[in-house]
Amino acid sequence: MHDHDHSSADHSSDSHGSLGRRDLLRSAVVLGIGAAGATIAAPAVAATVAAPVRGATAPPSLAPDPEAPADAPPGALAGVEVAVPTIASCNTWGAAAARGTIDTVSTNPNKILIHHTASANVTDYSQAAGYQIAREIQQWHFANGWVDTGQHLTVSRGGYVMEGRHGSLSRLQSGSGTVVGAHAPGQNSQAIGIENQGTYTSATPPAQLWSRLVELCAYICDQYGIAPTQIYGHRDYTATACPGDVLYSMLPQLRSEVAAALAGSSWSVIVDNTSSGFSAGSSWQTSSFSAERYGASYRYATPAEVSDLASFSAAIPSNGSYRVEAWFPAVAGYNTSTPFIVHTGTGSSTIRVDQSTGGGAWLSLGTYAMTAGTRTVVAVSRWTQGTEYVVADAIRITRL
Ligand SMILES: [Zn+2]
Repeated sequence: MHDHDHSSADHSSDSHGSLGRRDLLRSAVVLGIGAAGATIAAPAVAATVAAPVRGATAPPSLAPDPEAPADAPPGALAGVEVAVPTIASCNTWGAAAARGTIDTVSTNPNKILIHHTASANVTDYSQAAGYQIAREIQQWHFANGWVDTGQHLTVSRGGYVMEGRHGSLSRLQSGSGTVVGAHAPGQNSQAIGIENQGTYTSATPPAQLWSRLVELCAYICDQYGIAPTQIYGHRDYTATACPGDVLYSMLPQLRSEVAAALAGSSWSVIVDNTSSGFSAGSSWQTSSFSAERYGASYRYATPAEVSDLASFSAAIPSNGSYRVEAWFPAVAGYNTSTPFIVHTGTGSSTIRVDQSTGGGAWLSLGTYAMTAGTRTVVAVSRWTQGTEYVVADAIRITRL
């Protein structure tokens, strides 16, 4: 066991600003979108028109259109999540019951701390051997006066992944909150602690351990919305040799491999105007006039120099690069310069969209470096020139 002064009483009274978000990407690459300047069929007419189009000859209708895009389920979650590793629960590896109350926090952890157990580099890579060492570790931690195993998760030299402190696994699977550990003073309620069985001061971790560690970290990052840049060694926060010079020197590689695992997950989400993530003021009326709409309906409003946004909110799962697209029905009387505002978490960009043409398909608003978190990702503004309707229908966000 490594020799740090863990304390189960050390529960996150500190802040975590020093290493915070320093590594975040900051530059958003905004790609151009379709050229403006499409011909408007007719000038705007009376402002009292209740239809979602001006100057068009088609009769307005607010009735549901049965020809809505067939591939347009509102609020659909597309894509595949990262691989879910097999994690043996405390019950599976034969943990003893905790000897006291295990505290929990509802906030998600913001980083991962890598440890080594400083135990023997056994050559028995079996599951049974990994489980046995996990039981021994728990006894060592009881001897420290702790209520349970200190770390949240453990990886054996043979690559078997185990729950550490009781409750860690269910919290991880839910992606919400965690149990307070005892693995690094000041970080126990905000850092997921992973113990790697063995001693890596001069030895290299076995390949099986390494592969499962990468998978496990990717899963943790995905579940909690932690950036791969937020993976650290125990020694980054406490005066200790842990996780050993060799394993510590491999952390850049770990961050890189975890980032690659996350990038391959092709996470994507669609927020429709009928989704819970959508909100708009009462000036944004509902229509199903155009068959090019996404889902059952869309929203439209008249341009005005007011701050009255139609907002699409989504939970960005991790820091990374995302493509943002908009779907809207195009009608030859809709606004040719509708402002779409994309929020990355560190800033925003406004993209002007010609909504008089090219509707009924996903239109890229660009590729952006985004930070994890739930927020308005795209807002449609009424603040533009002209009098033709601006339209808010659906957006799609895809991790690249
Ligand atoms: Zn440690």
